Amino acid sequence: MLKRKKSEKLFQKAKTYFPGGVNSPVRAFKSVGGVPLFIEKGKGSHIWDADGNRYIDYCCSWGPLILGHSHPAVVKSIVETAKSGTSFGAPTRLENELAGLILNHNRYIDKIRFVSSGTEAVMSAIRLARGYTGRTKIIKFEGCYHGHADSMLVNAGSGLATLGISSSSGVTETVARETIVLPLNDKQALKSAFNRHKKDIACVIIEPVPANNGLLLQDRSFLEFLHDICASYGAMLIFDEVISGFRLGFTGAAGYYNIHPDIITYGKVIGGGLPVGAYGARADVMKRISPDGNVYQAGTLSGNPVAMAAGIAQLSECLKGGFYDKLQRKTKRLAEGIIPLLKDSGTVCHIGSIFWIAFTKRKTVSSSSEIDPNSMLKFKLLHAALLERGIYLGPSGYEVAFISSAHTDRDIDDTIKAFKDAIDITST
Ligand SMILES: *Cc1c(COP(=O)(O)O)cnc(C)c1O
Repeated sequence: MLKRKKSEKLFQKAKTYFPGGVNSPVRAFKSVGGVPLFIEKGKGSHIWDADGNRYIDYCCSWGPLILGHSHPAVVKSIVETAKSGTSFGAPTRLENELAGLILNHNRYIDKIRFVSSGTEAVMSAIRLARGYTGRTKIIKFEGCYHGHADSMLVNAGSGLATLGISSSSGVTETVARETIVLPLNDKQALKSAFNRHKKDIACVIIEPVPANNGLLLQDRSFLEFLHDICASYGAMLIFDEVISGFRLGFTGAAGYYNIHPDIITYGKVIGGGLPVGAYGARADVMKRISPDGNVYQAGTLSGNPVAMAAGIAQLSECLKGGFYDKLQRKTKRLAEGIIPLLKDSGTVCHIGSIFWIAFTKRKTVSSSSEIDPNSMLKFKLLHAALLERGIYLGPSGYEVAFISSAHTDRDIDDTIKAFKDAIDITST
């Protein structure tokens, strides 16, 4: 067994400070058991915990670190910028620079607004959609996560196309009732909901590549249908690209599927490991945001110069030729190495540089109801066995994994070897 003494001690202390000992729930290792590792440092594809154990990291801070840990260009940019001050609450050149970098290479949005998290981006996008349409109801999908704004913490009620029930204490029934929750990849459910609520629906929000509840890849035809039905009812389509943006390619899922949503939200990769979120849309839609329009949205640290500098450095690397092809090739190499080891107990779903180990007999999984909750027990065993072998996956079987440009072919081959041993152990 690897040494865990220091992490254990730090966790004991943390539990006296924070609920569950953490500042974001999934970090607590609840679904895989054991003590969360306290991370001391990261470099490239590797992280080191407080006890000095080294791991190849496939969590990558849950997605933001597409260049791996402490990439020299990103670190340099952060340090240099911080020397000239960390925040002004006034515009800086760096905001223009990051916006230019994004908008000059993205034909799906004309204007953008920077915020500080994915949650904030989604919350603002929904307010914008409601403000623009003058309507109240929103549709979301089971198995998609959009951050922790009240209106997004809603589950499907019983029965098709019923109004939502809150999935968190503290979210009022009044708020939950405005959110309709539908199954993914189901055109009929979408049709019925629009039929029933018609012009009450302000927007439909989806992760075009759902990657927060397993990796639930959608048929392009479903996304196209979604686009068209929104257009015909005058509802806005929001692509929540907090994971897929700048990850599936520089233009995210919109570019990958070539589908033009009304509003796109970003987070994670956009900030180079610092807290940045954003939302963007056509110019006439963005005109509704204050101070141009009457949809209010603001932020003390929005467009923070140090965070902008990190984003600029990271996205500049992403724009280099062949960047995404290389990432995809490595991901394919890893997936194709692992799939045969799983035999008929499961598969590896993957797209771009995102992958997910699915313990299922199905070839594809495209809605949350197709995930067998019992399969999480297998993931729990696999997770522990992989940690022992120096492979760090996010501590939940519902979470996807990420490959960064810092992961080498050698890392991938070492990982496949570790999987082989771990799977042998967990299947006996
Ligand atoms: C992570 C995530 C969010 C929330 O972003 P935070 O920065 O954690 O607030 C929203 N939507 C999607 C699709 C995400 O993956």
